[in-house]
Amino acid sequence: MFEKVLIANRGEIALRVLRACREMGIHTVAVHSTADAQAMHVRLADESVCIGPPSVRESYLNIPAILSAASITGADAIHPGLGFLSENADFAHMVEEHGLTFIGPTPEHIRMMGDKVIAKRIAQELGIPTVPGSDGAIGDIDVACKRAAEVLYPVLIKASGGGGGRGMKVANNEEELRALIPIAQGEAKAFFNNDEVYFEKYLDKPRHIEMQILGDGQGNAIHLGERDCSLQRSHQKILEEAPSPVLTTAQREEIGAIATAAIAKLNYRGAGTLEFLFQDGQFAFIEMNTRIQVEHPVSELISGIDLVQEQIRIAAGGTLDRTQADVVLRGHAIECRINAEHPLTFAPSPGLVTTYHAPGGYGVRIDSALYQGYRVPSQYDSLVSKLIVHGRDRRECIMRLRRALAEYVIAGIDTNIPLHQRLMDEPDFIAGDYDIHWLERFVATKLKE
Ligand code: ADP
Repeated sequence: MFEKVLIANRGEIALRVLRACREMGIHTVAVHSTADAQAMHVRLADESVCIGPPSVRESYLNIPAILSAASITGADAIHPGLGFLSENADFAHMVEEHGLTFIGPTPEHIRMMGDKVIAKRIAQELGIPTVPGSDGAIGDIDVACKRAAEVLYPVLIKASGGGGGRGMKVANNEEELRALIPIAQGEAKAFFNNDEVYFEKYLDKPRHIEMQILGDGQGNAIHLGERDCSLQRSHQKILEEAPSPVLTTAQREEIGAIATAAIAKLNYRGAGTLEFLFQDGQFAFIEMNTRIQVEHPVSELISGIDLVQEQIRIAAGGTLDRTQADVVLRGHAIECRINAEHPLTFAPSPGLVTTYHAPGGYGVRIDSALYQGYRVPSQYDSLVSKLIVHGRDRRECIMRLRRALAEYVIAGIDTNIPLHQRLMDEPDFIAGDYDIHWLERFVATKLKE
């Protein structure tokens, strides 16, 4: 097992990794920008190294600075967390070249799944159903239009190197498709340094359902069930739950078996997520994330498996120590993403946290790097806390979330806690009756009432 792990991240996920390490008796090294000198992950780590100024390019994405920090402190592995360098195959490769272990999949798997066109092709080869669309990346516009007429409009243009829900465009007819393809290619080049785009049929009422998997790189794989992440604004998840209110046991077992067979065949190592859209009883793969995800705690709460500890164990050469039959999913879990933003306008709200009181009690988990007197920096993601509850069933979870949200005090900055409180009272949410477009409609109509 590793003696010292460097955590190449910040915020709640850095703290999440730090906690896993500490419970495994592993020393931790935090890295931070000058804007994060007072951050909780820095305060709690055994050692810390300042790696640059606030700009992420010069700090959390600064590969030479991070590798130097690992070398100076004598770390033997690097956990990339999520975002930043977590899906950067070159970084993973360089970490290994420096004689350190990258806590994650092989650079080859990261590269393969990071290109969404290649990922979809591999998924098809592995027998995973995908959303119908262009045959790979769009080359000839006439060929693309012919194919779009077959899959039927509207279609969604996506970037092959895309992520974070950015840069997707809906085309309702051929004229729009012809006009939008070059625009999408230009934006993809600017955002992702890769001008390849493709299109998919734009589904009108899907749910976003994703499978959490673990592979040990030695031919073994298991899944921890699904997460339903259909509550989204601008393609960004805001609340996630497990299990999905709409899947049957047979559907879960079927997609779980397809996912684990694929992961085992790929010899995939570490934690990963296969994302699907689910409509009319059919699953269609959209992408795979080769890292831990923000919403991983809901899977931990229903499975009792610590996913970050599993990542670390597998990276250290461990094999999966359970089979699918050993994975028992119990009860229900829901996560609310608490963002530092105005609950109605969604304007970012960095600043000083003047009062902080987190909820507690039975079945409540908080993953947050906030504390009283902490100044939320303006340079980074607005996610400041995750409130996750576990209950016997969905109803108990909703009641527990209502009381936990009411206890949660974060003063000095705006947060979206009032939005989550509104959701807990919405009949559609209570009934589990929502698709990926529901929240946008709710925000546009009911929220401002
Ligand atoms: P990213 O990697 O940028 O997050 P994804 O492919 O994971 O992009 O898609 C993000 C979200 O966009 C999905 O959760 C879903 O809400 C929406 N989306 C993606 N593909 C489609 C599609 N074919 N039809 C309708 N919505 C889609």
